[in-house]
Amino acid sequence: MDEPSQQQRAKRYEAIHNLLFVVETVYTVLLLVALLYWEGSDFLANVVQSISPNPWIHVAIYGAVVVIATKLLFLPLNYLGDYHLEHKFGLSNETLGGWAFDELKSLGLNLLLSVAVLDVLYFVLRRVGDWWWIGAGLFFLVFGVVMSALFPVLILPLFYKLQPLENEPLREKLTVLAQRVGAKVLGVYRMGMSEKTKKANAAFAGLGSTKRIILGDTLLDKFAEDEIEVVMAHEMAHYQHGDITKMIAWGAVTTFVGLKVADLGLHWGMARLGYEYVWDIAAFPLLALCLFVFGLLAMPLNNAFSRSREWKADATALELTANRDAFIRAMRKLAEQNLADLSPHPVVEFLLHDHPSLARRIAWAEQWQSD
Ligand SMILES: [Zn+2]
Repeated sequence: MDEPSQQQRAKRYEAIHNLLFVVETVYTVLLLVALLYWEGSDFLANVVQSISPNPWIHVAIYGAVVVIATKLLFLPLNYLGDYHLEHKFGLSNETLGGWAFDELKSLGLNLLLSVAVLDVLYFVLRRVGDWWWIGAGLFFLVFGVVMSALFPVLILPLFYKLQPLENEPLREKLTVLAQRVGAKVLGVYRMGMSEKTKKANAAFAGLGSTKRIILGDTLLDKFAEDEIEVVMAHEMAHYQHGDITKMIAWGAVTTFVGLKVADLGLHWGMARLGYEYVWDIAAFPLLALCLFVFGLLAMPLNNAFSRSREWKADATALELTANRDAFIRAMRKLAEQNLADLSPHPVVEFLLHDHPSLARRIAWAEQWQSD
């Protein structure tokens, strides 16, 4: 039998991930429905209520139990998607111990953040009544801003080593690019991804004084200098376009709409399931189900918004570097190193991808002309 080509393997890898996404989605909905239907949530709410009458404490305990149970219930799927498949397709350098430690760290982080968010959400539900979704939306907006600012300095370093980029020729190129987009100081960091993965990645992250460009060592060590420059220019474009702020603003709008829809769904379901108050923690799976389904429906819209920002960043990257050839080489390398399907099915791309397909980005660059 012939060895499958790189793109055939990439298509298989993409198909398995899409299947996993569907399985996870159906599994989540079934779990939430089961919790409501078989009154698992009522049972848990009664138990935590008997531990302490203080609503802050019982919401916190309920939240912690749900987060830990969710982690355990999803562990086989996480193992399959994040560990087994990555190794099977030759994309991972991570040891099982390293993977397990990361899972433990993300569980700790998740516990801390989820309990805090749930406590504030239920405080708002108890205090604000019918207008809770506005209060909650404002809270999520503030939370999003704070998390965006802290992400590159507090969250990312929990999982990856970050060091200021030391490569002198690249730093010079960077300074030139930064001047061209009018950035005063913009730190560039080398992220140690190679001990975990072979995939290359780059990002623009942070808010205010934490704004920075992050380049994976997997990219810095495998890409040619002019290819790295064009990737840096793309991230610099996100900075120039204020894309993080735009994503937060966009996220705020969808969050307010989502919370209002969840409010309607909550009232509709409460009447049928026999819950009296919106702030009854036992009804949490109903609220979670409404938000989950809304998130699913909003996903194509969110992805379309993200893809439009990516197209703009690509255009600016080529204007800044005028190096179409390097751009195309970088995209091809990205496809090869990340085992990315160059042209996923258009419907899949529309629904699930936050970046335009690499084939479309390459085709666009081939048409590009400097003016
Ligand atoms: Zn981008």
